[in-house]
Amino acid sequence: MTKKRSNRERGLTKEYDLLVIGGGSGGLAHAQRAAEYGASAAVIEYGPLGGTCVNVGCVPKKIMWYAAEHSHHLQHAADYGFNIDVRGHDWAALKSRRDVYVKRLNDIYENNLDKRGVEYITGAARFIDANTVAVGDDEYRAERIVVATGGRPIVPQIPGAEHGITSDDFFDLDERPQRVLIAGSGYVSVELAGIFNALGSEVQVVVRKKGIVRSFDSMLCSELMAATRDSGFPIETGVVPAGAEKTVDGIVLISEDGRRFGPVDCLLWAVGRAPNTDGLELGKAGVESDSSGFVPVDKYQQTNVEHICAIGDVTGAQALTPVAIAAGRRLADRIYGGMEGRHLDYKTIPTVIFSHPPMGTVGLTEDEARAEYGDDVKVYTTGFTPMYYALGDKKQRSVMKLITVGDDERVVGCHVIGDGADEMMQGFAVAIRMGATKKDFDDTVAIHPTSAEELVTMR
Ligand SMILES: Cc1cc2nc3c(=O)[nH]c(=O)nc-3n(C[C@H](O)[C@H](O)[C@H](O)COP(=O)(O)OP(=O)(O)OC[C@H]3O[C@@H](n4cnc5c(N)ncnc54)[C@H](O)[C@@H]3O)c2cc1C
Repeated sequence: MTKKRSNRERGLTKEYDLLVIGGGSGGLAHAQRAAEYGASAAVIEYGPLGGTCVNVGCVPKKIMWYAAEHSHHLQHAADYGFNIDVRGHDWAALKSRRDVYVKRLNDIYENNLDKRGVEYITGAARFIDANTVAVGDDEYRAERIVVATGGRPIVPQIPGAEHGITSDDFFDLDERPQRVLIAGSGYVSVELAGIFNALGSEVQVVVRKKGIVRSFDSMLCSELMAATRDSGFPIETGVVPAGAEKTVDGIVLISEDGRRFGPVDCLLWAVGRAPNTDGLELGKAGVESDSSGFVPVDKYQQTNVEHICAIGDVTGAQALTPVAIAAGRRLADRIYGGMEGRHLDYKTIPTVIFSHPPMGTVGLTEDEARAEYGDDVKVYTTGFTPMYYALGDKKQRSVMKLITVGDDERVVGCHVIGDGADEMMQGFAVAIRMGATKKDFDDTVAIHPTSAEELVTMR
């Protein structure tokens, strides 16, 4: 196994071609690819390997989403002739299985570093100068340094905020709170609310502005608002949190206009994420960060200091695991693999929100397309109830939108909400990236009976 370095070996200075700060999605991908090209590399990580995605993000979240999906399917089991008596759900059992799985992944990640000869250094890194990083009393020098320190959930600076938990703490919950209030309108809020709701909690979501997931196409936002209402959790708009209180009946959130929400057993802040740059002492290396602490980079992931790059969430780029990985691998390809000019194109990045139902999106929203192309935009939409719901009374709509531009109707945006949207989007993302037109979609033979076939039969 990889030798973990510790403060016991005090004062040591070791040299590498590459030092990567942060053993999350981006940092691991970069270090491993660089090592495959022959670079001597080390990764410094103060938490469990795998970073946000593996430990408190995509992976445990998706496990919880699968649990919620089971609850959804159980509601329809009788329609398909099953006589099932569901006697509750064991959150603690689910958590303990999930934790075992995550630990297995941590070990796999450590093994992967070992296999490629990447050294794994545990502890918090801080810059000493532009080529030197310290961990405790140890110092490490490298020709190149990559900052891949990711981010953390924001807790608002208001009185009583400490009564709330964050998405990180969500994954530590040993039992399911019965009454939950989530503050925030982004995908983390929507996903965790859906999980709590499906597994039996009473959930309310409060948002500052007019709706949820507002950076997505407006059709997705309104359909998701309607779906969450139908599935039993309200979304209260125009709520600006001013404080939280712990009362004998539970936690209460107070808004700026004096409204009180709760009492609840769990208040969860899902109000955004901040970059992990506080203790890094970037200034000692001459690396600039913006007013929020993000590290700006050019298209080659380079900071203002030529041999120091940054990748992933810490750069303020789209906070997605595959984005951090792709940026990290391409950077290694360029620096160590001789692929001159190779970099990540941040346009047309597909993504999914694991809501109930899920939604997937790639390319421009309708508003963005109209702002860029004006009257050249033509939009196709369809809405239907998937066959899955044909036998019962409880139904969940699917809605799709294709956005095209120009006489040849090049598809520049594709947005889907409904069952299966999560698995549908990847292939369409390839087509759109290749410049597919509406005619290409029309000329593609449908796969029947599926929901996805609607995307190639729209008129
Ligand atoms: C609840 C939730 C759900 C998500 N779901 C999805 C999803 O479904 N799909 C998706 O694509 N993305 C998802 N994401 C986003 C995804 O997890 C991140 O975009 C991704 O992990 C970013 O990778 P990164 O390498 O930039 O940072 P991270 O994975 O956060 O890794 C950074 C690492 O650096 C370490 N570190 C920080 N500072 C130091 C230091 N000074 N010294 C040593 N180590 C340090 C941290 O401990 C951390 O391990 C989710 C995020 C959250 C919070």
